[in-house]
Amino acid sequence: EAVIQLTGIEKIYQTKTIETVALNHVNLSIQRGEFVSVMGPSGCGKSTLLSIMGLLDEPTSGTVAIDGRAVTSYSDRELAHLRNHKIGFVFQSYHLINDLSVLDNVELPLLYRSGVSGKERRQRALAALDTVGLGARTRHFPSQLSGGQRQRVAIARALAGRPEIILADEPTGNLDSVMGEEIMDLLLTLNRQQGATIVMVTHDEQQALKTERIIRFFDGSQVN
Ligand code: ADP
Ligand code: ADP
Repeated sequence: EAVIQLTGIEKIYQTKTIETVALNHVNLSIQRGEFVSVMGPSGCGKSTLLSIMGLLDEPTSGTVAIDGRAVTSYSDRELAHLRNHKIGFVFQSYHLINDLSVLDNVELPLLYRSGVSGKERRQRALAALDTVGLGARTRHFPSQLSGGQRQRVAIARALAGRPEIILADEPTGNLDSVMGEEIMDLLLTLNRQQGATIVMVTHDEQQALKTERIIRFFDGSQVN
């Protein structure tokens, strides 16, 4: 069963003087529970692909379907629900807030959710931090952590929302190979033990080979 289905997706960035075709009629489906990696040279459209899958950006043309239903048929409320509950993002550069503690960073996205009490927020954040092995670092600040630990905080922040789908854009791109491997192992565990569907952009062939399927992009199109 496809959780995300892209049909004829085209994305054109138009500025005053130039037009860039970032995605050129992409057809792609991601099955529930899959761990897929996306590879290809810089500028080939990987980040754009992830933004469109995660409903952060709209395609110029084509259809995005989530759970078999075109997103254009969802109401604004339903779309907000999908963005906030179903999908979690992890970025290369962590996007943590430096003057908030680890725990507050992880709780933050839950603040904007109706129906999650302060107590539940805290419990979920602590559980997510335990999952990523940072249960003992909750009162630290991001500047007091290594790059790998910061990325684990960012993953905990995504997990606290209990997303079914994790979209990770070069999650190990800023990490040395040892820490990168730790993050990769964590993602593999989340996929296998919690059934998360994961789409990960990576430049690391060794990491990609650990996933179930590699999608290769070049110049806005899938080439394999
Ligand atoms: P990466 O290669 O890691 O994906 P990029 O530097 O290509 O990083 O892009 C990072 C983000 O910057 C993109 O997702 C996009 O939002 C923005 N971006 C990239 N290229 C351009 C551009 N030519 N003009 C404006 N914004 C851009
Ligand atoms: P990748 O993630 O593979 O590096 P991107 O999806 O970031 O590729 O970018 C694909 C193409 O679209 C690139 O040519 C980039 O310069 C362009 N691009 C990305 N974001 C923007 C933007 N916001 N405005 C204009 N061009 C962009």
